[in-house]
Amino acid sequence: MEPHERISAKLSKFRPSLTLALKTLVGERVSRGLPVYDFGLGETKGELDPPIREAGERAFREMDTMYSDPAGLPELRRRVLDWLDVASHYDVGNVVISTGAKQSLFNIFMAVCNPADCVLFDAAPWVSYQPLAVMAYAFPTMVLPLAGGERALKVTPADLERNLDSRPHTKLFLVNNPVNPTGQLYSHSEINALLDVCVERQVYFVLDRLYWRIVFDGASYPEPRVDEATRPWLIQVDGLSKNFRRTGGLRIGWTVGPDDLTGAMINLQSHYTANPSVPTQRAALAAIGREYDLSLVRELQDRRDLLLWCARGMPHVRIWPTPAAFYSFWDVAGCLGKRTPSGETIQTADDVAAYLVREAGVVTASGRAFMQDGFLRLSFATPEEEIRSGMAAAAEALGRLS
Ligand code: PLP
Repeated sequence: MEPHERISAKLSKFRPSLTLALKTLVGERVSRGLPVYDFGLGETKGELDPPIREAGERAFREMDTMYSDPAGLPELRRRVLDWLDVASHYDVGNVVISTGAKQSLFNIFMAVCNPADCVLFDAAPWVSYQPLAVMAYAFPTMVLPLAGGERALKVTPADLERNLDSRPHTKLFLVNNPVNPTGQLYSHSEINALLDVCVERQVYFVLDRLYWRIVFDGASYPEPRVDEATRPWLIQVDGLSKNFRRTGGLRIGWTVGPDDLTGAMINLQSHYTANPSVPTQRAALAAIGREYDLSLVRELQDRRDLLLWCARGMPHVRIWPTPAAFYSFWDVAGCLGKRTPSGETIQTADDVAAYLVREAGVVTASGRAFMQDGFLRLSFATPEEEIRSGMAAAAEALGRLS
């Protein structure tokens, strides 16, 4: 067997995550005793809420460790309906609990797509959408908005219609709201106008709402319209990873969708993983089974404001507003073509990201991971001191580009 035949052609196409190269640079700085400011991670830090921890501990203590229903614990499935305030539209049979929102998304692609069916993503798709779709033999395409300016990277109904016209085999449109990486928030009318297009064209509308609790400045989450017309086409994806502190590793996600699709996903999941870990389902029940604690949102809003204040006047960079999620999105087109003090020319957002790590210890995520070169994503789910020192170091390093 040839070396290249040892791994399937399908998987050989995937490149490891772009953040790996940065990890090497971080390692070099750490080994030289230099500071590192981490704005790269897409997760919250802090303390796990005691009720969440205790529910998981109790499950182990009481040996609540046997298989559950493959679709998840019925009480957790019921709770998800209350959490999303959709109990009057759906019942427990419309919910599947999975091993993180990643598995929820993969279930959807697998359940909906035949080989070569097209799936449409919004303009800056989260890193794993594409590999997950390809693994399900679907053909992913980004919907690129024609409008720029304030609306940049938000898809309009006209953008979606144009793409549906040119791709008759489209099965679904996936939109993330709030958007990782841009921190944008589609409004109520924007999200429902896109949903209407999907309903009219009989295409599934997949709403990844993983960050939906984290909306700032007193705004409320723009809910999609659930009614007789939208129910057959609307699938909502959510989970435990982002709206609580330190819960990404618990690996719990869920979907709420139409009966037939949910049945197909349960069938699939029953064969390849069955239920997610029962103790973490118990932990999830404790998390979403009580009133949501807004202190995380307040803390993240303060950090957003701090980052914006510390980053004001950042050389060669335009910073987008962040109404939701915990990412600051930086347009770094102004850095491209500039020279570093050691004489290299910055050509891509990857180069900017590498320069910032090497020179300033500031770790970011390059927009190229989200199919948008010319941008950086910075997570501000980061301690205040790290934000202050990191922004000062970034400003100093960017100021040395000429
Ligand atoms: N969707 C978005 C937009 C995400 O940012 C992530 C994780 O970062 C996921 C889905 C996957 O979430 P999970 O960690 O629950 O699998």
